[in-house]
Amino acid sequence: MSGHVFVVNCLPVGHGDCILVEYGDQRNPARVLIDGGPARSYQALRDAIGELPPDRRRFDLLVVTHIDTDHIDGVLILLQDEELGAEFDDVWFNGWPQLKSLSAGRARDVFAPPQGEFLGHLLHARGQAWNRSFAADRGCVMVADRGPLPARELPGGATITLLSPREENLLKLRRTWVEALRDAGMRPGDWDQAKARLDARAEYRPRAPRDDVYATRKFGSDTSAANGASIAFVLDYRGRRVLFGADAHVSVLTEGLRRLADGLGVLRVPLDAVKLSHHGSMANIDGTFLDTIDVSRFLLSTNGAYFRHPDPETILLLAERAPGAEVRFNYRCRTTEVWERPGAAPGGGIRAVYPPEGQVLDLGS
Ligand SMILES: [Zn+2]
Repeated sequence: MSGHVFVVNCLPVGHGDCILVEYGDQRNPARVLIDGGPARSYQALRDAIGELPPDRRRFDLLVVTHIDTDHIDGVLILLQDEELGAEFDDVWFNGWPQLKSLSAGRARDVFAPPQGEFLGHLLHARGQAWNRSFAADRGCVMVADRGPLPARELPGGATITLLSPREENLLKLRRTWVEALRDAGMRPGDWDQAKARLDARAEYRPRAPRDDVYATRKFGSDTSAANGASIAFVLDYRGRRVLFGADAHVSVLTEGLRRLADGLGVLRVPLDAVKLSHHGSMANIDGTFLDTIDVSRFLLSTNGAYFRHPDPETILLLAERAPGAEVRFNYRCRTTEVWERPGAAPGGGIRAVYPPEGQVLDLGS
């Protein structure tokens, strides 16, 4: 008899996120892809999908959490990679058609970050279903200010419960989107123009995210509109639960977790693993967040490039609030190998796990 798999694979995509989740019957599991990493590490994603037989390169869901290049660029290449032939039954992405539907009031003009427009064009061009299961919310993947958290059943028996973004995050993104596109001389939702621009760029270079989180060395201080608009959620499968934090703001995650805890009738949400937000930036974690969850395993996706993630403060906070926790790194690099030394994190310490084990978490039965 074949067992059930539940595998979370944080692919090695440099400083970005590209997470392949497989669950269900091990002979033919359901698949969810969360982000595509930056352009220069696309080969890692291509290799992972290329290992599947050509007729099995189908995903139940693709989530593009937000528009920063270390998350979206690999998806832009993937959707043009006809030879690879990956297909998606559904895509979750908050692009211009969704942002436009929100009543922005003060937004004077209509304009978006080019990558978001490129993805809009690619989805449109392939006739791809997009945010289909959020039609009742103006097509936006978002959490309403009140009421139960949005939950969606996935094929194969998994459930996703959304924690981020909230409408206010998308409204802030909308304003940023307008400004960034204006700077680029583009019009939002003009797929022909987006196609022309995209076609002119043979390659994507990973660029520094536009956030300014290092202006202040403070826990939970991320103010980036793009990060704040991240799609973050918990995924439940057969009694196992994993939090995928994208690059979301910790206040939004914590508020969502509180609502989830209320719904479950518990003080802390029990989790089997947490993919830490924003590659372990201290600007996307704080003690309050850790107080709302009951977990002893953390996943980190980064090679430390550009921003030297994870911040040491983050690991020290984990050692203090979740003593003895397992911290799984998908790279052994300058910013992660320091945690291998006994006593590197005082107090209860942490248990650092490196690739290959650190990359692939198997929660299957
Ligand atoms: Zn990121």
